[in-house]
Amino acid sequence: MVRMLIGGKMTESARAMDVIDPCTGAVIAHVPDACPSDVEAAIACAKAAFPAWRDLATAERSAVLQAMATRIAENADELCELLVLETGRPMGLAQFEILHLAQGYLRYYATLEVKPELIVEDETRRVELHRKPLGVVGAIVPWNAPVFIACNKIAPALAAGNTIVVKTAPSTPLTTLRIGELWADIVPDGVVNILSGGNEAGSLLVEHHDVAKISFTGSTATGRKIMAAVAPTLKRLTLELGGNDAAIVLPDADVATIAPAIFAFAFFNSGQVCAVIKRLYVHDSLYDAMCEAMADLAKSAKLSGGGDPAAEFGPVQNLAQYQKVLHYLAEARRSGKIIAGGDPLEGPGYFIPLTVVRDVNDGMAIVDEEPFGPILPIIRYSHIDTAIALANASPFALGGSVWGSDVAAASKVAARMESGSVWVNQHCALDPQVPFPANKQSGFGVEGGVEGLYPYLALQTINIAKSALTT
Ligand code: NAD
Repeated sequence: MVRMLIGGKMTESARAMDVIDPCTGAVIAHVPDACPSDVEAAIACAKAAFPAWRDLATAERSAVLQAMATRIAENADELCELLVLETGRPMGLAQFEILHLAQGYLRYYATLEVKPELIVEDETRRVELHRKPLGVVGAIVPWNAPVFIACNKIAPALAAGNTIVVKTAPSTPLTTLRIGELWADIVPDGVVNILSGGNEAGSLLVEHHDVAKISFTGSTATGRKIMAAVAPTLKRLTLELGGNDAAIVLPDADVATIAPAIFAFAFFNSGQVCAVIKRLYVHDSLYDAMCEAMADLAKSAKLSGGGDPAAEFGPVQNLAQYQKVLHYLAEARRSGKIIAGGDPLEGPGYFIPLTVVRDVNDGMAIVDEEPFGPILPIIRYSHIDTAIALANASPFALGGSVWGSDVAAASKVAARMESGSVWVNQHCALDPQVPFPANKQSGFGVEGGVEGLYPYLALQTINIAKSALTT
């Protein structure tokens, strides 16, 4: 059985759970299902490892992070194959996640150094601002980008001097567990602990009094539960939650030029990304042309399992999500006109063709909610103020984009959007040095960039009177 990394040792559990191949529905592996004693042991190891890790020089911690990144790069072929197996996605996507995102974010955070800042200095006093690690961080990860999201928590947590316990998603634990095994001899024992398990293991991390902070990525519904559950221990909290990103196509856009890019950013990873285009607002004058272009691209896409070298798009990753997407397909059929896709593929696996639906409006579930699958609703607008108001009306505010030929004009529209990230003539352009903020009910406590380090640090001022008091 694949094992968990706890206190530097590869560890089994008293319980096990199945991992399913989304291309076939068959069981492909058994992994430990962390029971309370495993979670307890991982937290105890992380707590014991904290003082020594905190007290290392930044350069020494950076060297460990660089070694972790190098170990991933050296084993990229095996890791990508494992990620393709458990997610069903095409190989190119797995390589992007492992080599570009996971490795890239580890290396970026290895370069950052936290230094005290001088706030005031005069004849009488010197005031310094320090940032100090918190202790044990609990990281809870979703299934859609399991390795990247784990590394985007491990990297800043460790760079800041914390230790960490990672709880992988129930349906995609394999690659992250294997990475744990690859790291076992280069990371000091207990600094990184990796658990596989269900929601119960996540809850135990959230409630534990020895965990100082929870960094959670997942659905808004679970985020709410976690926010309530941390109240008794008043833990620090980062929530990266759901999104319903709007893209606005301005009247001066060139449909032929932008359609392939919009298509790619709407259906990336078959729509199973927090910040892909999930609502496309198109000006009246371009609406029919854009609908036609999206439908043509969707119809010609090659949907297949990641083992097929010709695959461009893979299945929905797990059965629960597949059933959710089927529900939204039914909604799409009821609400608008499906012009590509619409019916799940026959045969084994969770394959749903790329689906484009037109003649839909805000107020319909297919527009207002997050299907988190390969469905793109296209909404018509006549006035830019309406499009912006609708884009901003959502309780989600993760990403958004504006598309047009006049880049300066498009940028002005971008500035009126309320999402944490706004892109112009692109979407979901991730970069380790650029913060990825979430606004409204998409979460809080930013990841990415230098700003992504700060939520893993506690502020402290040291205020020094220069002359000693005399009696
Ligand atoms: P989910 O909320 O169902 O589960 C996420 C993780 O939380 C899993 O590891 C799960 O076991 C754990 N969990 C569930 N209940 C818990 C509880 N009560 N206490 C502690 N842990 C618990 O989400 P999912 O279906 O895995 O992921 C899809 C969602 O994630 C989508 O809404 C997507 O938009 C969002 N997401 C957001 C971002 C972002 O950066 N904002 C990135 C990726 C995914």
